[in-house]
Amino acid sequence: MRPVILFPLFASLTTLKGVGAKLAPLYARLMGEKIVDVLWHLPIGVIDRTYSPSLKYADKGRVATLTLTVLEHAPAASKGKPYRIAATDGSDDITLTYFTSKGEYLAKVYPVGKQVVVSGNLERFGHGWTMSHPDYALPPERKGEIPDLEPVYPLTEGISRKMVHKLAQQALAMAPALPEWHDPSLMQREGWPSWLEALKAAHNPPPAPTQPSASTPFGVEPREGERLLSLPHRRLAYDELLADQLALAIIRRHHRAMAGRSLAGSGELQRKLESSLPFTLTDGQKQAIAEIGADMAAPRRMLRLLQGDVGSGKTIVALMAMLQALEAGTQAALMVPTEILAKQHYERLKSLLEPLHIPIGLLVGKSKGKDRQSVLQALDDGSLGLVVGTHALFQQDVAFANLGLAVMDEQHRFGVQQRLLLSEKGKGVDILAMTATPIPRTLTLTAYGDMDVSRLMEKPAGRQPIDTRLIDINRLEEVIDGIGRQLAKGAQVYWVCPLVEESEKSDLAAATQRADLLAEHFGAAKVGLVHGRLGTEAKDQVMRAFAAGEVKLLVATTVIEVGVDVPNASLMVIEHSERFGLAQLHQLRGRIGRGSAKSTCLLMYQGPLGEVAKARLKTMRETEDGFRIAEEDLSLRGPGEVLGTRQSGLPVFRMADLARDRDLLAMAHDDAKLILNKDSELASPRGAALRTLLYLFEKDAAVKLFRSG
Ligand code: ADP
Ligand code: MG
Repeated sequence: MRPVILFPLFASLTTLKGVGAKLAPLYARLMGEKIVDVLWHLPIGVIDRTYSPSLKYADKGRVATLTLTVLEHAPAASKGKPYRIAATDGSDDITLTYFTSKGEYLAKVYPVGKQVVVSGNLERFGHGWTMSHPDYALPPERKGEIPDLEPVYPLTEGISRKMVHKLAQQALAMAPALPEWHDPSLMQREGWPSWLEALKAAHNPPPAPTQPSASTPFGVEPREGERLLSLPHRRLAYDELLADQLALAIIRRHHRAMAGRSLAGSGELQRKLESSLPFTLTDGQKQAIAEIGADMAAPRRMLRLLQGDVGSGKTIVALMAMLQALEAGTQAALMVPTEILAKQHYERLKSLLEPLHIPIGLLVGKSKGKDRQSVLQALDDGSLGLVVGTHALFQQDVAFANLGLAVMDEQHRFGVQQRLLLSEKGKGVDILAMTATPIPRTLTLTAYGDMDVSRLMEKPAGRQPIDTRLIDINRLEEVIDGIGRQLAKGAQVYWVCPLVEESEKSDLAAATQRADLLAEHFGAAKVGLVHGRLGTEAKDQVMRAFAAGEVKLLVATTVIEVGVDVPNASLMVIEHSERFGLAQLHQLRGRIGRGSAKSTCLLMYQGPLGEVAKARLKTMRETEDGFRIAEEDLSLRGPGEVLGTRQSGLPVFRMADLARDRDLLAMAHDDAKLILNKDSELASPRGAALRTLLYLFEKDAAVKLFRSG
């Protein structure tokens, strides 16, 4: 149960002054619904308004607070022209400009002949001073309302900087002092203030050497490396990361503590399979198989992630593990997210297992009648050792005689809940999760901190490199001609249109239009379209037709089904590639280059491209190494954008930034381990404080795993 001391922090935002029915949803979207969400919503900079020069000697490009006398008003000459107010401070003249047509309002704020105090960005335009849309314009007697230092908060439409500032001050007043959860020596070494002091300081930042411009509504986000994180902010970021790492460590330890069993095999089936393969295993595959094998043979439960690029050969590694489970006298199940993938895996595994005379079953939502009954029966009586399936595998009527290993492909598509459901189908079931999402090594700690990780770094030999080219959208016609030539050679083509979450409708319209255009060129029968609005059934049907080679050109709005293998597809066009995350582009591109033909990926873009966009697309052209791409993406953009957030399984942090705070993440990881080694039940006084930290970041599920949760 959440400690009483935290109750005020988890009260609803609507208990604060100024948050009514109208604003509550806006605040909720901007930062959340609880008081604590306001506290986590930290400023990204500060505006210093103490600069009050006389205009004659002023510096341009700074935020200045000036006392002016209004000379005259010049309403906008025409639409699109500014409303101008001439004023003077006695030493020089200045023009205040407004791109709004609220003349009446401006006449009231700036009465001619009267004094007005303004604060905003002072600029030079031609020979004169200007200030566009001052942040403050008040009569001299209200000058005190202009803060000397004003924190710059991320905002949303309808919520002003001032509003967030006031809210934050209210929330700070309600924040209790909390027992210190950090080690005193760490606090001393880092020079960190207490939690409450850190919060107060972070919300009331000191003047920064470089100032955000007052005229940009969101302030200026300092670029990575340009600014060191302030100590208070760093402490808060560390709190957040430690809570995350500690929760993961607790969950991991809990898994480990659950009785497991030793699944040691003779290695005979594995050797047979290996010698029947038409290729030799890569060193990476061998190592992964050994790591997994050792985990399975150990008497504790395995919870391991196999991370490897698309096409790196994870399936065979999984199959070897499944054979070890068989050798140990148990059953193994492979679970995949979609039916079409299940069938593909089933066919492939079946043919790999043929020389070994080992049967494998298929269980998907649609399996019905006799087939389903006989698979269920055979799993129940133990006569069937291996099965591939979808979510159907953990439905209630599925019983295993003796499930030893559960493998999950594309693990990010399954939640922790589903993982637990499947593992409950047996006693102490070992779990192997697989993912093709190339998360940088530094981030695996947080994405998969509760698992051990094996990685496949190299591609199997004999793969042809993919020729990746950048093409301006203006050259669409040439691209279509090129496709014609490829189709004539018998190749198949993917055409990817981007999905922008905000406007699914217009994206769909664009993709439909594109499909129509291509159908006009190549014939409707050859062109298929899949998008997010299609039902599973309809989507599977199009994908099957493409896999069977009936559809030659597949237009897709959403990420093409992960893992689907169509070796004959050797050309991919990605429209608006500049809108995709690099990792996403990489995953998409991994759909081609799987057959014997040389493959080409055309990254179409809408120019002009900025520096970062250029660098990103250049990376795509230079390498096919998913881990390098992920690292590069991380340093070019930041982790929020590294992957489609929903896809990545990466947690979203409020105060920490995985790109900026990698050192803190590593520290938190070690710290969490150390804490649990010393105080496994968090029973000491510091342990109690750490429990408060876990509740503060809503890691309630982790605390519940303690005997006295
Ligand atoms: P993914 O990691 O994307 O699941 P797969 O397991 O589907 O990759 O493997 C992709 C292809 O590579 C398959 O056709 C598989 O047979 C082949 N493959 C796997 N390992 C090797 C290897 N060591 N040498 C050559 N080909 C391999
Ligand atoms: Mg796969």
